[in-house]
Amino acid sequence: MEIGPGIPRRCLCGALTVLLTSKTKENPGRRFYRCGAVFGENHVFKWADEALVEEIEALSLKQSSMENDLIEIKEQLLDMKKDLTEIVEVVAVFSTKLRK
Ligand SMILES: [Zn+2]
Repeated sequence: MEIGPGIPRRCLCGALTVLLTSKTKENPGRRFYRCGAVFGENHVFKWADEALVEEIEALSLKQSSMENDLIEIKEQLLDMKKDLTEIVEVVAVFSTKLRK
């Protein structure tokens, strides 16, 4: 089992992750996510800058998909409005005939 792209919210062990700041010589001040329960192998560790880039990429894909869905929904709504207009016209015609 692997964690997916983006911000890791939970570790594979089930624990929530925490956002911390590195104090090592190699990465001073660099933020990272890690398992909130255990620091070690088989538990989440991910640099926050890398996680955020992945998160933005995933959100961008999601947004594109939602934009396409919205275009489709707008087209369906227009079709439904046309159908409704036709139905109202037919009802009006029948209503007029019934009164005669
Ligand atoms: Zn863990």
